[in-house]
Amino acid sequence: MGTDGDLLGEIVEFETFSDLELVPEGDSLKGKIAFVSYSMADYVPPPGASRMAGYGEGTKARGRGHVTAAKRGADAIVIRSVGTDNNRNGHTGSGYGYEEGVRRIPAAALSAPDAILLQNILRRDKPVIMKLNMTSEITGPIMGANVIGEITGREDPEYYIGLGAHLDSWDEGTGAIDDGAGVGSMMAVATLIGQMEKRPRRSIRVILFGGEEIGLIGVQEYAARHKNDLDKHLLVAEVDGGGGRIHTLISGVGEASVPVIHEMYKLIEPLGIAWSDANDAKGASDMSVLGRAGVPALNFMQNSNDYFHYHHTPNDTFDKIIPEDMRYLTAAYAPIVYLAAEMDIDFRQ
Ligand SMILES: [Zn+2]
Repeated sequence: MGTDGDLLGEIVEFETFSDLELVPEGDSLKGKIAFVSYSMADYVPPPGASRMAGYGEGTKARGRGHVTAAKRGADAIVIRSVGTDNNRNGHTGSGYGYEEGVRRIPAAALSAPDAILLQNILRRDKPVIMKLNMTSEITGPIMGANVIGEITGREDPEYYIGLGAHLDSWDEGTGAIDDGAGVGSMMAVATLIGQMEKRPRRSIRVILFGGEEIGLIGVQEYAARHKNDLDKHLLVAEVDGGGGRIHTLISGVGEASVPVIHEMYKLIEPLGIAWSDANDAKGASDMSVLGRAGVPALNFMQNSNDYFHYHHTPNDTFDKIIPEDMRYLTAAYAPIVYLAAEMDIDFRQ
């Protein structure tokens, strides 16, 4: 939502999204602008948890803050960008879940330095008025598409190994790391396998999803169209974490298949990849929709050390792609995807 000219309001800070939620619904934030200052960069994961959990926490305010603040009377919400950099760029991202009868209010993300500046001004304990002027608008439906390519299996073509990435990206950058790296590496895996003399036993489908960033729209459409043959999707994996190398492989398959995946894993262990015994992989972004629908999945966990410096910002550009890392990424997937398609194994077992 835009602001329709200048919008002035007193800033009320909340350190986390939960703090904002604790305010009873009503009009206590009337005339105010809610500010969630949660810092993903300062997030220290509890033992055993991944740094990614800081992203999940940050996206609560980004995703639901506008509705939550509006229900408490606020005129707008601003958040500290969900990212780990110190550049003076805001990180964009999706908000969702407009509710009937709840006012639609503007929502914006401040760059990390600007959020810190605002916090320091607030520490003076004097009212701080922010002026927002935002020109965004909803222009109507836009057509997107999933783009699917397939290596048709030589014996059991109706069974699929699915590789995913997404074609859409935020407008600020060019989407090189999110998710050009995924599109490139998944297509490279299929290209390598396609160059072999003999096609694998079962089909390999590369699914480049549309509309991931605005709520996994493309994969939901895919799942709906394939609801009657989802059981023919034997195993899925994706890349949606930039071009970084893989550090750990996690399976999400039937108990009897775990030793098989572990044998395959030994082929890529020399790339410096660890094995996780968790066997709870469900896919990461798009593929999580299929994973939660019961399709066996592999999660190739990527080194994403600097991913959230650039993700959803004007700095998501091609210079961040490191060709040598992309080769490692492709090499980690290719043997496993090939074997999964060639073997006669039901990974649900
Ligand atoms: Zn992405």
